[in-house]
Amino acid sequence: MIRTRFAPSPTGFLHIGGARTALFSYAYAKRQNGQFILRIEDTDIERSTKESVDSIIHAMDWLNLNYDEGPFYQTKRMERYKEVIEQLIAKGQAYHCYCSKEELDKMREEQKSKGLKAKYDRRCLHSPDIREDVKPVVRFKNPESGSVIWNDLIKGRIEIANVELDDLIIARSDGTPTYNFCVVVDDLDMQITHVVRGDDHINNTPRQINILDALGAEIPFYAHAPMILREDGQKMSKRHDAVSVMQYKDMGILPEALLNYLARLCWGHGDDEIFDINQFIQWFDLNNISVSPARFDIKKLYWVNAEHIKHADNQKLAALVIDILKSKQVILNDKLDLPAIIELVKPRTDNLNSLADNIAYFYQPLTPNQEDIDKHLTPEAINLLTNFANELESLDNWTMDGLKQLIKDFCVKYEIKMPGLGMPLRLKLCGTTQTPSFDAIIFLLGKKLTLERLKALHA
Ligand code: GLU
Repeated sequence: MIRTRFAPSPTGFLHIGGARTALFSYAYAKRQNGQFILRIEDTDIERSTKESVDSIIHAMDWLNLNYDEGPFYQTKRMERYKEVIEQLIAKGQAYHCYCSKEELDKMREEQKSKGLKAKYDRRCLHSPDIREDVKPVVRFKNPESGSVIWNDLIKGRIEIANVELDDLIIARSDGTPTYNFCVVVDDLDMQITHVVRGDDHINNTPRQINILDALGAEIPFYAHAPMILREDGQKMSKRHDAVSVMQYKDMGILPEALLNYLARLCWGHGDDEIFDINQFIQWFDLNNISVSPARFDIKKLYWVNAEHIKHADNQKLAALVIDILKSKQVILNDKLDLPAIIELVKPRTDNLNSLADNIAYFYQPLTPNQEDIDKHLTPEAINLLTNFANELESLDNWTMDGLKQLIKDFCVKYEIKMPGLGMPLRLKLCGTTQTPSFDAIIFLLGKKLTLERLKALHA
């Protein structure tokens, strides 16, 4: 059974790079009917926070990346890590090191002056200077020769010579295990078959493989996905870019659109741009991911979002939009057919906030600006609207066809062109001239509300 995991460190919110990794990891497991596991790597007590854990889980829920197991917390597994460290020491694959910082600095200086690579010289392995007053760290005894080779499912074959690798500290002097060690024990215990993660972890991989080897474990497959960069090729930063997944929710992006966009960032299926998660799962494979970094293009994300909004179920959009309208203090009423309004306005929007803005004026007309009033609500136009209101009042056939006919006849009778009626009408009914076609607006507002708003013009 394929088992993948997403293993964020809760030192901040879920960022889009993390979400993309989670998506690939999730999709790969689902495609093979495997399992996807969430593991919270919270051993860095100083930087990990409960708020970050909550916000990561919240973002995973919002994205609908459901995990089959977890969340597992590393802080709850300390006993297990200590047990494995003891095993390694007992088998001679790890050893205590009593060296002080000063000693290590001196050793590195000497190595440097001889033109050697700075590396622990194993003095505590060969002749440990055991000091009762010093609590030792534990170092992993890395193989001295040969190399670590793995066929990365994204990057291809990678080989790192063991001479390049130091004897990694796996337990600090207070006994707490270190990052790379916890990852290894977790991947082993959680029976992870495929480690999908960002390529900033490539350097950790040979160290982790060596520890897994020492534990007699089967080595999982590794897949290191490229970074997501800004459009200008620079690294994304919290200060200048929307990097948190939940910021995209606030920007009115649908979770399925964000996933679609993230999937397309460094993976493709021919010319297909718009797809849902199920389609993605069917098409996805790790070896189709490009090796070079992807560039984040916000305009493209909005375009993908617009396509998803167009295809989304109107009832579903209604539920999302109601929340936004309420947050904007728009007073809702159930006289209006919200899904029908959404159907009308959604082709004009590329995010839920602008969708909500284009719906708000159905519930409450905006306050028109003076320029528009001066231009479109002239005394003649007001006169025209009064006559139009009268005609509308006597219309029994309240259908789109009935309305269209009435408007056509009205324009002929008063010898005006459609916009001559449309602009003042839009302004009175909605408070703006930027609306979809006015016959549809009248139809959706209904007779009562339309007449109410037209009559308000006499006030
Ligand atoms: N905790 C690591 C991070 O947040 C991921 C480690 C891994 O996937 O192996 O970058």
